[in-house]
Amino acid sequence: FVTGTNVGKDVKASKLLKEYDRVILACGAKNPRDIKAPGRDAKGIYFAVDFLKATTKSLLDSELKDGNYISAKGKKVVIIGGGDTGNDCVGTSIRHGCASVTQLEMMPQAPAKRAENNPWPEWPKVLKTDYGQEEAIAVFGHDPRIYQTTVKEFLKDKNGNLCGLVTVKLEPKRDEKTGRVTMTEVAGSEQKMEADLVLIAAGFLGTEKYVADAFGVDLNGRTNVATAEGAYETSVKNVFAAGDVHRGQSLVVWAIREGREVAREVDESLMGYSYLEVQ
Ligand SMILES: Cc1cc2nc3c(=O)[nH]c(=O)nc-3n(C[C@H](O)[C@H](O)[C@H](O)COP(=O)(O)OP(=O)(O)OC[C@H]3O[C@@H](n4cnc5c(N)ncnc54)[C@H](O)[C@@H]3O)c2cc1C
Repeated sequence: FVTGTNVGKDVKASKLLKEYDRVILACGAKNPRDIKAPGRDAKGIYFAVDFLKATTKSLLDSELKDGNYISAKGKKVVIIGGGDTGNDCVGTSIRHGCASVTQLEMMPQAPAKRAENNPWPEWPKVLKTDYGQEEAIAVFGHDPRIYQTTVKEFLKDKNGNLCGLVTVKLEPKRDEKTGRVTMTEVAGSEQKMEADLVLIAAGFLGTEKYVADAFGVDLNGRTNVATAEGAYETSVKNVFAAGDVHRGQSLVVWAIREGREVAREVDESLMGYSYLEVQ
């Protein structure tokens, strides 16, 4: 097979399993979490990865001369999601020449220094200002992030084009029964905000269903392809999974590590032993 072949759509899983002794699913976790607020059908709302991918492709193909990308030039951009993908959207929108950029984050702002319940050597849960946010501060004079805020409604004009948002403040509330803390709307905190381009960077929901369905593999509670702890074989014999499709949206270094480990496990399952080194 060649690039451009979509397994599960263009090629049946059963055909692959018939022709090959082992199959490794390494197809990422790009299924985006949507924001299902009224007005979601307004023209001018895109998923972050579609925006970023189109820009990168156009840049590599033609240095953005072919115009085959979603332009933020002159637009009031609102990015929903304060994570790394949202940060990439902030930087890219500024480089397109946006008129303004705002990043909405549902969680509270992290402290500048470690909290007492987050001592060394735990991962420090402190405020991180990434390159996109630094560029926003340099260009517009302020951090683009607004915390504890989400979108309640997308507003559109008479032609169906996005023209603004209704935002609402959120506060952490503990459920007396379960003890779980969830971010809950603050009544009466709704505000209108102008926007003509919205980029949804609200996280990812694991593997795409059609791939899992095609192979009949079980998913775990986080909708990633399930395997036993520390192993890569799925619930279907001879089908393995590694990288984001296995651990959820993660990092390139983890994908490399899992790629090496799954190769070793497959080698062992074929040969009965493996000399492949993971380190
Ligand atoms: C916007 C963004 C920014 C990121 N920035 C960083 C960063 O700065 N540093 C970092 O370490 N990580 C970053 N990551 C995460 C990183 O990209 C992933 O963790 C890593 O690429 C996972 O590798 P993978 O091989 O598991 O999956 P992927 O790299 O997603 O590769 C999956 C491949 O499978 C193909 N595919 C999917 N379905 C099918 C199918 N049915 N048939 C055939 N092919 C299929 C896809 O087209 C893709 O080429 C970022 C992710 C995003 C979304």
